[in-house]
Amino acid sequence: MAQISENEIREIVSKVINSMGSTASAAPKNYDSTQYGGRKFLGIFDDMNKAIEAANEGYKAVRAMQVEDREKIITEIRKLCREEAPVMAALGVAETKMGKVEHKRLKHILVADKTPGTEDIVSNAKTGDYGLTLVEMAPFGVVGAITPSTNPSETVICNSIGMIAAGNGVVFNPHPGAIATSNYAVDLVNRASRAAGGPEILVASMDKPTLDSANTMYKHPLIRLLVCTGGPGVVRAVLSSGKKAIGAGAGNPPVIVDDTADIKKAAKCIIDGCTFDNNLPCIAEKEVFAFANIADELISGMKQNGAYMITAQQAEALSKIVLVTVTDKSGKEKVTVSRDCVGRDAAVLLDKIGVKVGPEVRCIICETDFMHPFVQHELMMPILPIVRVRDIDEAIDLAVKAEHGNRHTAHMHSKNIDNLSRFARAVETTIFVKNAPSYAGIGFGGEGHATFTIAGPTGEGITSARSFTRQRRCVMADSFRII
Ligand code: NAD
Repeated sequence: MAQISENEIREIVSKVINSMGSTASAAPKNYDSTQYGGRKFLGIFDDMNKAIEAANEGYKAVRAMQVEDREKIITEIRKLCREEAPVMAALGVAETKMGKVEHKRLKHILVADKTPGTEDIVSNAKTGDYGLTLVEMAPFGVVGAITPSTNPSETVICNSIGMIAAGNGVVFNPHPGAIATSNYAVDLVNRASRAAGGPEILVASMDKPTLDSANTMYKHPLIRLLVCTGGPGVVRAVLSSGKKAIGAGAGNPPVIVDDTADIKKAAKCIIDGCTFDNNLPCIAEKEVFAFANIADELISGMKQNGAYMITAQQAEALSKIVLVTVTDKSGKEKVTVSRDCVGRDAAVLLDKIGVKVGPEVRCIICETDFMHPFVQHELMMPILPIVRVRDIDEAIDLAVKAEHGNRHTAHMHSKNIDNLSRFARAVETTIFVKNAPSYAGIGFGGEGHATFTIAGPTGEGITSARSFTRQRRCVMADSFRII
């Protein structure tokens, strides 16, 4: 894929910011969730009930279409997603203050190229003494989708392609911290539909999504399926809604490096994966368990790939900044990540503890013990703790515990197939990547399709169009066989 230059990025960012009449430091509430550069977004509503009704009209239109017409819309979505990837990438960074423009651009290209379309919907036939039985993948109806701030437009477009390919309508309740970016993507899908001869409002969203609008969505009788991509709180809320739901929740992916691995390659892969979009992807490497006899070589390789090693005292100081204690509604205190630090550049985070470095530093590494908060919390920042382990038994034991039973993603660098198989069996994650950066697990430099909704808790896995369907059977007794 062609790289975008620093100058081009700067130009796009300044265009985005100017078009919003805002400054880079403005709070997300200043971003316009209903228009971009004077172009009013299609499909954005001030009331969730109206948005659902519009999505239901979109659903009726999709139901009336030939599959090949649906595919024409999807082809147009892919085209616009490729063309407008730089704008959405810059808008995403400007609005959320998280991630990297170039990486976000690549994520959009991945969505455009590798999200399956209608070809993912297949029928099964069973014939025998008693005739023919057909099983088809049918749409649910209107899907209610909750999307995160970490991959906002990527998730909206990826979900839209899959859900429309399956014949559904979609209404979004996007993350309040990324409304303008998410609604840009909703508008893109609607523009694509219009250009390909579909309805002008195929998918819908809210101008000001809230927990209340999410609740309206959960309860509305027209919503037949809920799909939630986000942290543990919102996934729990959706799974307790009483409706059929797909939950794509939090991870804390561990990486094991044993002493048979290609250490140089492992060091590069881990830093590449961990720093991709400043560690925002839920699949990105979050903590490393390295065999003690190769740990020094691994750390040295990481330093050669843009990692900056901090001391135990510096790690202590940094942990007090990037993690904060909050009191929840029930009055219970809990430690959580500081939203001011999620997805920020390594240099910005280091600056907070008085360390000045240039943009060549892309990751902060430190040696810690297993109980260190950097190991235990899903930071979503380019901070990577490294824990030395004796052997494969200790590595697997600690890595499985650090994953916290999310069954989301784990990584390993090794040439020992017994070790690889043992860890894969023990950790039971939806994605297990061997000897590659984490993003190979969603089709970026790895085989297989892409998704930004990885449904571990409910088991759909690497979601695609077929995940958003329900099976229907049609039985023809005694005839329609040709043998
Ligand atoms: P988040 O959990 O903060 O928010 C997700 C959305 O849910 C937002 O719209 C938010 O306002 C809303 N929300 C939060 N609590 C809610 C509740 N109780 N009821 C209704 N809505 C609620 O997510 P985020 O910070 O944007 O994303 C980061 C988290 O999402 C991380 O934990 C990451 O691992 C996870 N994630 C998972 C996947 C996946 O595919 N499994 C993909 C992306 C992100």
